[in-house]
Amino acid sequence: MSTTFDVINPATEALVASLQEADVAQTDAVIAKAAKAFESWKKVSPGDRANLLRRFSALVTSHREELAQLEITNSGHTRGNALWEADNVSNVLNYYAGAPERLFGKQIPVAGGVDITFKEPIGVVGIIVPWNFPMPIASWGFAAALAAGNTVVLKPAELTPMTAVRLAELALDAGIPEGVLNVIVGKGSVVGARFVSNPTVRKISFTGSTAVGKSIMAGCADQVKRVTLELGGKSANVIFADSDIDRAAAAAPGAVFDNSGQDCCARSRILVQKSAFDRFMEGFEKSVKAYRVEDPNLDTSQMGPLISKKQLETVQSFLNDKDDAVAFTGTAPSGPGYWMPPTVLMPQSVNARTWQEEIFGPVVSVLTFEDEAEAISLANASDYGLSGSIWTNDLGRAMRVSRAIESGNLSVNSHSSVRFWTPFGGFKQSGLGRALGPDALDAYTETKNVFFATE
Ligand code: NAD
Repeated sequence: MSTTFDVINPATEALVASLQEADVAQTDAVIAKAAKAFESWKKVSPGDRANLLRRFSALVTSHREELAQLEITNSGHTRGNALWEADNVSNVLNYYAGAPERLFGKQIPVAGGVDITFKEPIGVVGIIVPWNFPMPIASWGFAAALAAGNTVVLKPAELTPMTAVRLAELALDAGIPEGVLNVIVGKGSVVGARFVSNPTVRKISFTGSTAVGKSIMAGCADQVKRVTLELGGKSANVIFADSDIDRAAAAAPGAVFDNSGQDCCARSRILVQKSAFDRFMEGFEKSVKAYRVEDPNLDTSQMGPLISKKQLETVQSFLNDKDDAVAFTGTAPSGPGYWMPPTVLMPQSVNARTWQEEIFGPVVSVLTFEDEAEAISLANASDYGLSGSIWTNDLGRAMRVSRAIESGNLSVNSHSSVRFWTPFGGFKQSGLGRALGPDALDAYTETKNVFFATE
């Protein structure tokens, strides 16, 4: 007997849809379908596979308004973000449509024959996605996986399944055969866990919390199942006194409050050089107070609600800590919905829970440092290493500090982390492996070496 669950609009608390959640038997049936489809999908010629992905990309573009609207309603994303996210799916598909014809192996000189490497698809790939960026993160997995000749079973997060379901329909409309891209809606502990235990799934690509990622990695060990992990973060925004402080202060809210702080790359630890602290905080307060937290449907909205009541309660539980002082806050609407103002904390020390743990909400902590060595040491004093920013006008310092910070994705004098054609992933407990760019194809292929004797 199947059960249903409700999908809620976080900006209004209205019901969006009631969906059925799959059980283990239904999950196994879809995995079997994906395994059958793999037998023919891997044989589709590179040019035909490329064209199908291009058609899929074009259909996403022609449905961008519909997909964006679904995400605004399901996830509370601002209109600007939701449109960017739909376009990102289209761009990622288009980028990886270039891959089937460029999945080069190597020819390695050997005596007595010819040695060639092949990039073979792995088989059925299980992609498990979180709720914070449902569309882009799903596509970063399925576009590269499909391009490399794998078939996919995709599990969206329980809170945000709507766009994944629609994207799978668009794939079929584009002519991608039945069984190649399958979306299974259900619980992580049921559907996601079955991806890990079912031996027909040959690889897991997981994006989500570090705690669940660790359990997935442990589960994969039993079958030596391939695994890519994109996990949590507690990234530093390091601001040196020699930088353009006004620019750094104006940009800092967007670096942490975008998507209501529910961003694995959120720069949630601000480190400011002591001599620039007063000037930075003055500008930062102005920019936080001007940050527009409002109905995500408005073109002017910069921040919407949090995803759920539970997430709002979790984030607010961080605010009762005696180790922190609230420096200032922005504004938020009242009434229905899971709203909270952007909040800036001054922790007493690096030991504060808010400095150490990923909050995943619109909360940022500010501490000071004396010199470059202390800035690097404070930035690296974290189990995470996903993202971060460095503000300085000294080129040598920009090079030294960006090489010294233990993180997968850094920006200097900017906060951008993610481009679909450059690699993305974490150091330390922020993950394993890389998504996007040319590197992601390694995550969805096995290298096969074949020696052909000629004598
Ligand atoms: P989560 O770990 O609770 O859930 C992520 C996904 O895993 C969901 O689909 C969930 O249903 C599933 N899941 C839960 N338990 C499972 C289990 N036992 N077996 C298999 N699957 C299971 O994370 P979340 O709360 O949805 O997302 C927030 C977290 O994701 C944050 O920590 C954030 O930093 C991280 N994140 C990381 C990246 C990145 O690229 N590094 C990107 C986005 C989010």
